[in-house]
Amino acid sequence: MAHTSSRTKSIWRYHHSLELQLQFKSKFGSLGLYFAAVLPLFSLLGLVYVSLVVGRTTHNTPRHPMPDKDELTEPYECINLEGDLATCSKCDGAWKPPRSHHCSTCGVCRMEFDHHCPWVGNCVTRARMKNFLALLLLTPIAYLVVLLPIYPTLLRHMSLALTTSHVDAWANQVWWDWYGSWIFFGGPFGRWIFGMALGFRILKTQRKPDLPLIEQPSLRLFVICALGLLFSVFTLTLALWTMKDLVRGLTTLDGMQERHTKNTSRFVCIPSENVDSSRGAEDAAATRNKIVAVLPEERLYDLGTWSNLCDILERPWRDPPSTASYKWPQVNPTVLDRMRKTKKSVPSDNSIAETDN
Ligand SMILES: [Zn+2]
Ligand SMILES: [Zn+2]
Repeated sequence: MAHTSSRTKSIWRYHHSLELQLQFKSKFGSLGLYFAAVLPLFSLLGLVYVSLVVGRTTHNTPRHPMPDKDELTEPYECINLEGDLATCSKCDGAWKPPRSHHCSTCGVCRMEFDHHCPWVGNCVTRARMKNFLALLLLTPIAYLVVLLPIYPTLLRHMSLALTTSHVDAWANQVWWDWYGSWIFFGGPFGRWIFGMALGFRILKTQRKPDLPLIEQPSLRLFVICALGLLFSVFTLTLALWTMKDLVRGLTTLDGMQERHTKNTSRFVCIPSENVDSSRGAEDAAATRNKIVAVLPEERLYDLGTWSNLCDILERPWRDPPSTASYKWPQVNPTVLDRMRKTKKSVPSDNSIAETDN
């Protein structure tokens, strides 16, 4: 009997040690998998962030001499009825190619300027748009992955904090029974969040010293996770907002102008080679440069949803070399067609704007 009992004990011990080994292996395996996901993700995030931070005064600044407008053969955006190209008074009258903008924070002109991002302390241009979107989309993914091991514990603690807060006399008096709790912390959702924070505060006074640190409900951890969630929602919203403008062929600046200021002082010069010659003698002006105002509702660089998206996605991850020759942005063919069909054109020596409307 004693022999059987000792055998049972040794079998139990064997199983117990096997179980521990399996637990260790499973934990170690999960931990390995966790770091295998987190480390590359954070390295990538860091790399994308750095790629947006560098070149504060150098990247995408116009380095091209002012072209001779009489030698241009493709339709281009100009600033007046003379077909003049834009210059920047803050950059000593240097040429400001179409879609460029002077960033007052960086103190330089940027080609294909989108917006100045305070989070990276640099301008976001269309050339860096892919990196910018990657940063915005990787942030919520990194947040979700990095907190993966503590989700069950965190959810359990949140539920416990809420229940504790609801049954606590003090919490009911200062928060749940007060009508202001529905208003002063972001409405009903805020009432629930603040009530939960009070629950965490109460739980702090009831800590069990024998429990490991991660098993102790922590208000600090809850606040950090909540702020991380808010930040992730913010970056995701910003990514979607930016993409909404991109697929319409707009930069963030264009989008703001379209929504608010309705910039109407834009013109396109169609050099004589590009004017519809089929009109022949019917329109003598067809032999001259044609300058037409852009209508407020027209998107000058919108090439269609798919083409706009491909234009961004097909760009390289690195900045174009500063020695690269200037590439004129392609003008919306529908707008160009409307301009070519516009009966009245403005001769280069005329100072009166004439358009279809
Ligand atoms: Zn400038
Ligand atoms: Zn800037």
